[in-house]
Amino acid sequence: MTVRRFHVEGIVQGVGFRPFVYRTASALGLDGWVANVNGHVEGEVTGPPRTIDEFAARLRTDAPALARVRRVRLTGGAPRPAYGPGFQVRHSSPAGVDTAPREIPPDAAICDACLAELHDPRNRRHRYPFINCTDCGPRATIIEDLPYDRIRTTMRRFPLCGRCAREYADPADRRFHAEPVACPACGPQLAWEELRGEEALRAAVKAVEAGGIVALKGLGGYQLVCDAGDPAAVSELRRRKHRPAKPFAVMVRDLDTAVRLARIGATERQALTSQERPVVLLARRRWHGSDPLAHEVYPGLTRVGLFLPTTGLHHLLLDELARPLVVTSGNLSDEPIAVDDAEARRALTGVADGFLTHDRPIRSRYDDSVVQFAGRTRITVRRARGLAPAPLPLSVREPVAGAGAQLKHTFTLAADGRAHLGPHTGDLADPAAHDAFLASYEHLKRLTGIEPAVLAHDLHPGYLSTQWAEAQPLRRIAVQHHHAHVAACAAEHGVQGRFLGVAYDGLGLGDDGTLWGGEILVADLSGYRRVGRFATAPLPGGDAAVRHPSRTALGHLFGAETLGSPRPYPWLTRSFTERLDPAEVAAVRTMVARGVNCPRASSAGRLFDTVAALVGLCDRAGYEGEAAVLLEAAAGAEHAAALAHRVVRAQGLWVYDPAPTLADLLRRQLDGERVARLAAAFHLTLAIVTAELVARAVAEGAPRTVCLGGGCFVNRRLLTEVKRRLHAQGLRVLVGGQVPVGDGGISYGQAAVAAARLAREG
Ligand code: ZN
Ligand code: ZN
Ligand code: FE
Repeated sequence: MTVRRFHVEGIVQGVGFRPFVYRTASALGLDGWVANVNGHVEGEVTGPPRTIDEFAARLRTDAPALARVRRVRLTGGAPRPAYGPGFQVRHSSPAGVDTAPREIPPDAAICDACLAELHDPRNRRHRYPFINCTDCGPRATIIEDLPYDRIRTTMRRFPLCGRCAREYADPADRRFHAEPVACPACGPQLAWEELRGEEALRAAVKAVEAGGIVALKGLGGYQLVCDAGDPAAVSELRRRKHRPAKPFAVMVRDLDTAVRLARIGATERQALTSQERPVVLLARRRWHGSDPLAHEVYPGLTRVGLFLPTTGLHHLLLDELARPLVVTSGNLSDEPIAVDDAEARRALTGVADGFLTHDRPIRSRYDDSVVQFAGRTRITVRRARGLAPAPLPLSVREPVAGAGAQLKHTFTLAADGRAHLGPHTGDLADPAAHDAFLASYEHLKRLTGIEPAVLAHDLHPGYLSTQWAEAQPLRRIAVQHHHAHVAACAAEHGVQGRFLGVAYDGLGLGDDGTLWGGEILVADLSGYRRVGRFATAPLPGGDAAVRHPSRTALGHLFGAETLGSPRPYPWLTRSFTERLDPAEVAAVRTMVARGVNCPRASSAGRLFDTVAALVGLCDRAGYEGEAAVLLEAAAGAEHAAALAHRVVRAQGLWVYDPAPTLADLLRRQLDGERVARLAAAFHLTLAIVTAELVARAVAEGAPRTVCLGGGCFVNRRLLTEVKRRLHAQGLRVLVGGQVPVGDGGISYGQAAVAAARLAREG
């Protein structure tokens, strides 16, 4: 008989790990005990050495669904066991000398077993909206402190009833140590004004049936819900939420409904039904007859975000309403999602017709996550509920933090080989979003126990994240925006050494003081050299141009960098300029000529805006990137020959000159070519240009591993065509899968760069 101590690291708390250890040890006939100690699980086993090895192996291979086992260690145990025969689950010991980093389990969608009970009239949790077990339910959103135990969650205000207490204490029960366990007798209750329980639910159902908008207290914040098939309700929601165009996510009852509405591949199906339960962007199916999805849900687009119910409450609503529902974050445009009941009342009065709420507080704010697929390539658009703050690999020696960018803001805390990418907080310029960032930064710092020694931030002095970083009493490392984008990709995929970065983005500050956004970099994690770029063009109105594609287009026509090719002739541009307000055209012409409030940018994103405006798809954008989204949608499945293009050598860089591309576009438009074909041609042209820029760099000795980054790669068509052409050159092509490709991934890239620079210092 041998006594061995075991330690298991990873996401092992709040996921049913101790009962799993109990079952495994009992099945193998081992004596001993198991406990949560700070962030990990440890214990002792006594038995034959080979059985103990088998036990350790099973801890890895048979772990419960929500667990993420990173490391299992066996060390020598006490010479003689200090316990009797049998296996015992001990209570967690908080505090302690252990300094191992602590991990926080993300929330998990309702599991099949709980769903069956929810629908079973004989079960005592029949129709109980807050049903959960060790395999599912709220986690990150309710945790106040670690170790993860009920008394350190927002469930502590609900003392367990006798029956729940027995389940909680029984190692053989599915709810053994399920910290948020609850039932109708002891747990949270629904409320709608003075109505409770089923009556509250019925009131909300009636309100939605009547075409109203309901504020629903979800897992990570309030959501706004309305009938997705009712154009009037959806338009009203847009009006009240001040969100004119950005598509809404739609929750459907089950996979079958999703399959009827959208074309769903195997990877998409897997994501839809995963415990993370993100919104998945999917190609809409053509519909005959009265459409259960109003077009106002995703105006001008062919793809729509669908997701399945996350909690018992969502299931009950969808069962009753039996129709797809718009489920979007409960806020006004750009504000953070509301979590606090009083705050939600204040923010959403005038937006919602009623509030379906409950008495379990939400500790941390998590929006719904958004993912999509290009073939089998996964792209994370928003990493939030269900995904964050699960750790991502990152090689770091000293604890570092990434302060993020400005829009789609996130932060990252990293130490000891992993990085926690915090929840998405939106546009930092909004004071409420800024407060939300500070609160979740402090909270995650406390939970993870990561006290950063170094803070990485963007070069842009105007970003509020930069200003915040500068006020912190920490060593700072400034990271160029596009280096952070491609470094995020490289770090996620564990690229060692040098790589070629392709960053196509809206705007970010370059190291030369101009705005960048169409960049080819030879880089490693610690540094980079710019080897290629897009030509620059003025942005009339500066940052405001982001919402004004027609002005960006005028900027291109009147003031693009001269690289030796003729500008599009006036007779070509006339049909475009004559469509616009003549006074505005004249004003922009003057601004460009005098260089007033016209910063220059080499941005790929702004070139998308320009083309979308020129073909008449989008003069004003309701949100950043709308023009590009509309252009991708317009291309549909169309194919067309590429547009003219030119790559030239200027100031030691390879530069894409889009003037011939725009001239050719306008010429083909005058010849009557359809918008779909023009849009397809532009995507193809950018892919060809990218392949050429990369080929030139590789010919000069650039590495053959290419990391793609920046918000433009949310565009599936661009991504697919770029990948195909780079693969054809025999290059290895990587793109972020877990880390958002857009600015939501910047903080992780910043942390990666800071860690690499520190490592180089030795
Ligand atoms: Zn469950
Ligand atoms: Zn109970
Ligand atoms: Fe960016």
